[in-house]
Amino acid sequence: MVSLSTPLSQFPTVKKSLLKKLASLGLRSARDLIFYFPFRYDDFSRIVPINQLQSETRVTARGRLQLIAHKRSSWQRRLITEAMLADNTGQLRAIWFNQPYIAKVLQVGDKLSLAGKVELSRFGMQMVNPTFEKIKVDGASVHTGRLVPIYPTTAGVTQKQLRFLISRALAAASQCPEWLLPEIIRVNNFPALPAALQEIHFPSGGIKSAKARERFQFEELFLIQLKNELARREWRGLAAKAVVFQEKETKDFVSGLGFTLTDDQRRSAWEILQDMSGNRPMNRLLNGDVGSGKTIVALTAIYNAALNHFQSVWLAPTEILAQQHFATACRLFNGREIRVGLLTGSSAKISSQEIVDCPKKKFLSEVAAGKIDLVIGTHAVIGDKVCFQNLALAIVDEQHRFGVEQRRLLRAKSANDSTPHFLSMTATPIPRSYALALFGDLDLSLIKQMPIGRCKIITRLVEEINRHKAYKFIREQVGQGRQIFVICPLIEEKEAPSGRQLVLMEKKTVLAEFKKLSEEIFFDLRINFLHGKMKPKEKETVMQDFLNKKFDILVATSVVEVGVDIPNASVMMIEGAERFGLAQLHQFRGRVGRSVHQSYCLLFTNAVSELSKQRLWYFVNTADGFELAEKDLELRGPGEVFGETQHGFPELKIATLQNIELIKKSRESARQIIDSDPTLVKHSLLQKKLVEWESGVHLE
Ligand code: ADP
Ligand code: MG
Repeated sequence: MVSLSTPLSQFPTVKKSLLKKLASLGLRSARDLIFYFPFRYDDFSRIVPINQLQSETRVTARGRLQLIAHKRSSWQRRLITEAMLADNTGQLRAIWFNQPYIAKVLQVGDKLSLAGKVELSRFGMQMVNPTFEKIKVDGASVHTGRLVPIYPTTAGVTQKQLRFLISRALAAASQCPEWLLPEIIRVNNFPALPAALQEIHFPSGGIKSAKARERFQFEELFLIQLKNELARREWRGLAAKAVVFQEKETKDFVSGLGFTLTDDQRRSAWEILQDMSGNRPMNRLLNGDVGSGKTIVALTAIYNAALNHFQSVWLAPTEILAQQHFATACRLFNGREIRVGLLTGSSAKISSQEIVDCPKKKFLSEVAAGKIDLVIGTHAVIGDKVCFQNLALAIVDEQHRFGVEQRRLLRAKSANDSTPHFLSMTATPIPRSYALALFGDLDLSLIKQMPIGRCKIITRLVEEINRHKAYKFIREQVGQGRQIFVICPLIEEKEAPSGRQLVLMEKKTVLAEFKKLSEEIFFDLRINFLHGKMKPKEKETVMQDFLNKKFDILVATSVVEVGVDIPNASVMMIEGAERFGLAQLHQFRGRVGRSVHQSYCLLFTNAVSELSKQRLWYFVNTADGFELAEKDLELRGPGEVFGETQHGFPELKIATLQNIELIKKSRESARQIIDSDPTLVKHSLLQKKLVEWESGVHLE
C-alpha cells in the first residue's frame, strides 16, 4: 500500500542507481512524484486500425506481436530490433535502434500497443522507435492510446520510468489533504485534489482536464496573492514620517525645468506625494518606459522631503548612473539650498553651491548629522557604515523593486524607528498582468506617455550584405556631429562556467570589436570602449568623455543598458541582436533619441532560426515598451525577461501570467480570506501550505 511518505526505494523496479538520479530531480517519496507535473503531453489518443494508418500521423496501433528479431545494420553496425504487429486489418512494422532489451521483454503472441509517428517505408507502414506497452486485462494504459505526459527529466531517467512510478504513486493521491477552501472549489467548479492530480498526470481530455489544470494554476497564483496581501498588510502597520506637500515650492521647482510635465508625470508625482503625506510608509513602483521622465518625478518627491527637513537616499545600480543622477540633481536643485551627496565605492562628493570632494569619514558624519538632504549612491550605500539622522524616502532606480532584504537594511539605517517611504523605479515596462500577479504588494504608478516632441527612433534589421552601408551611414552621422553606440553581446553563458570567465569573455568581445572598428572601419574617427571588467574610475572617465564629446563611437557591452543619458548620441548599433531579449533591446534603443536629433537603432544578427527572426521583426515594428514586454513574456517567460536582478521572484510551475482573469480571481479570493482572518489562524491548512510553498519543502 503506497502512502504519501513511501520512499522511492520501496517502489518496484527502482534500483540504487536510479534512486540517485530521481533524487537529483527532487524525487524521493511518493508525494514528490505526485506533485511532479508534466510540462506537456503527447497526443497518442487516436487508436487506429492498421489498414487505416496514414503516414506522418502520430497515433496508437494495437495488435498481436507476430515476430520480433534482432539484426545488425550492415553500414552503421547498429543493432536493429524489428517487430511485426498485426490486427484484423493488416500488419505494421516497428523498428528500434540499439535497444536490445526490447526483444527480451516482448514475446511473439503478446498483445501490444504501439504509439509513435507513422511512416511509409518500402516495407509498408512502419513506426521507428515507437513507445510500446503490453495491453493489460483491464485495458488501462499509461504510455500509449492516450494523452501521454512528458516530464522534465535528466540523463538516465526515462519518460517511461517516470510515468510508471507516478502512476503507482497516484494511488496515494487520496491521502493529500484538501487545503483549498471548499467555498473556492465550489464557486470555481474545481475538481477535488485527488481527481485533479490524476487528471494533470493522465488527462482524460476535455473539460475535466482543463478544470484540473485551471485548479493548479489558480493554486499557484492564489498563494502568491496571499503572500503579497500579507506583506502589504504588514507594511501598512508600520509607521513613517509624514511629508507635507509643499505646493508653492513644488510649482516653482517644476516651472523652472524648461518644459511642462506630461499628464502621466503629473499624476505619478501626485500619487507619490499623496502616499508620502500619510504616516504609513509608501511602497510604490513607478513604471515608465525609457525616456518617459521618471527622474523629474523622483526629484519632486525628494524636494518635498527636503523641504520637510527629511533626508532621502537614491540607489543606482551602477556607478555611472549614480554619477549621472548626481549631476542631474545638482543641476536641477541648483540655487535651492539642497545639499546633495554622492557616495560610491571610489568617491564621496558633496554639492551645495559647488561640488567638492569630501573625505568619506566626514561625508558619513554629515549624513549622520542630517546635513546632507539627498545621498545618491550605488548599493554600497546600504552595505556601508552609512547612518541617517532622519531618513524619510528611499528610491531605487532601474531595479525592479526593493527586495525584502534591501528594505530591512534601509529601515535599520534610519536612526529613528520610523520606516522610510519606498519608491522603486523601473524602465522595464511591466505588463499589467505581471504587475498584478507578482507585485500585488506594491502600489503602481504608470508613465505611458512620452514627452511631446520626441522623434520616433527608426529601427532597422540590417542584412549582412548591407553592413558597409550601415558603416557609411554612421560615418555621415558622425560628420553631422552625432555620437554612436555599438553594443556587443556577451558570450553565451554555457561557454563560461564561472562568472569570472564570463566577464573576461565580455571584455574579449568588446576589445575585438573595438580593434576591428578602430583599425579597419573607422580608423580616422575617435573610438573608445567600455566593459564590465573596467575599474569604476575608468568607466566613469569613459562615460564622462563620451558625454563631453571627446570621442565619437563607444563600443560597449550591456553596461550601458540602464539609464545612461548621452543626448547627442543618435545611432544605437547592436551586434548579435538575437542574443538579447526584447525588453533589453528596447533598453538599448532607449539610449538614443534623447534629444532633438533623429535617432536610429540598427540591428545585426547571425540568427538563423525563424523564431529569432520573427522576434527581431516584432521589435523593429514595435516602439511601445509595454507591448514588447508583453511579447517577451509570452515568448520567453518572466524568468528570462526580468532575469536575476529580480528579488524574490517566485518560480511558476504551471500558472501563466497571460491569464488575467484567473489572476484577478485569485487576488479577490486572497483578499477576502485575509479580510476575514488576517493571520490565517482559522485556516491552519492554508497557512501550512503557504509556509511549505514559500520554503519549497514539505512539512510532513
Ligand atoms: P527615464 O524615465 O528614462 O529615467 P529621464 O527622467 O532620464 O527618463 O528623462 C529623459 C529626458 O527627458 C531627460 O533629459 C529629461 O530632462 C527629459 N524630460 C523629462 N520630462 C520631460 C517633459 N515632460 N518634457 C520634455 N522633456 C522631458
Ligand atoms: Mg532614468
